[in-house]
Amino acid sequence: MILILTPNTRSDSSAYQQLMGYLDKLPGIQYRVHEEQGATQLLTEIYLIGSTAGLAMDYMQSLPGVERAVRVSEEYRVLGRHQANDPRPSHFEYNGVRFGQDNLNVFAGLCAVDNREHVEQMMKVLRDNGQVCTRMGAYKPRTNPYAFQGHGKDCLPYVFELAGKYGIKVIAMEITHESHMDEIFEALRQTGDPTGVMLQIGTRNTQNFELLKIVGRQQRFPVLLKRGFGITLDESLNAAEYLASEGNRKVVFGLRGMKTNMGDPHRNLVDFAHVPVVKRLTRMPVCIDPSHSVGTRAAGPDGMLDIAHVVAQGVIAGANMILVDFHPNPASALVDGPQALTLPELPYFLEDVAIAREAYERRLALRQKYPST
Ligand code: PEP
Ligand code: MN
Repeated sequence: MILILTPNTRSDSSAYQQLMGYLDKLPGIQYRVHEEQGATQLLTEIYLIGSTAGLAMDYMQSLPGVERAVRVSEEYRVLGRHQANDPRPSHFEYNGVRFGQDNLNVFAGLCAVDNREHVEQMMKVLRDNGQVCTRMGAYKPRTNPYAFQGHGKDCLPYVFELAGKYGIKVIAMEITHESHMDEIFEALRQTGDPTGVMLQIGTRNTQNFELLKIVGRQQRFPVLLKRGFGITLDESLNAAEYLASEGNRKVVFGLRGMKTNMGDPHRNLVDFAHVPVVKRLTRMPVCIDPSHSVGTRAAGPDGMLDIAHVVAQGVIAGANMILVDFHPNPASALVDGPQALTLPELPYFLEDVAIAREAYERRLALRQKYPST
């Protein structure tokens, strides 16, 4: 059971003290307090763990300081959506950008940072097209140990400075080791915090539980957790719950396709039908990665890239974030050139996304017009 306290119930208030006095006396029940300081108010949730079946909801809701009580299932205790109208938020803010189950952000950028010029060209075209988010890979997990592994911390200062210059507020950046988080933290500090970073946990590390725990213990950076390419959705959602159970609830869940030959000739089997599923089971915003799902620039007879089609499929189903590879010169890209879109394609890409988003919003309005069918 979760007790949601009236906003701004501080731990030194008498209501809070009385409530704690009561909870301390409940036999067989432990509790864990989670506080979230928002821009205007403090939100407190108390997780009751143990034999809560005998606790009457009405009574728990009448305790001092308690606004609502929610009975939770064992699954995805923190991030789960435990009832259709779960009162807990399904959005968060980071560096002035909202990430929610009700909006959409595009993260177009380099799969891997190769040089300063390409980073600058990318960020300039993003700025010119009204974008404030990007992807920039500095630490690249590669199948082949002799392949380029990313420039690591050496590229961070110019990536962050250029982000500041071009008004980029959030950079999605994969880390594969806890030391990378410290390097990012330090480079941001040294460059004067010109931008924000969303730490990305890649599909190869979805079940690296020690990494998840360490990343979950900090709340400075939000996290994009990619779905594991060869495990069930439930296992990947539990991986996200690891982050939240350690304290970091600013988690976006990323669909990036499943590894199976059944998806051929795509690189992975596109799994964007799970967008509404993840939104139903949890309160996480859902990201789609069409580049790593499809893996090529193949186009249909209508002239549209498969990548563009799957983006539309994900967005029309309510996706909240798009992580997509672009490169100024895909032929020279050190990682994943064959799936990269080019910079002149960005305005077209964004317009195409806007069409799909508008279609989703119209579908939503239609659904609300016929609420009971
Ligand atoms: C990436 O986004 O650069 C990446 C490596 O993705 P994934 O972990 O989904 O393969
Ligand atoms: Mn890649």
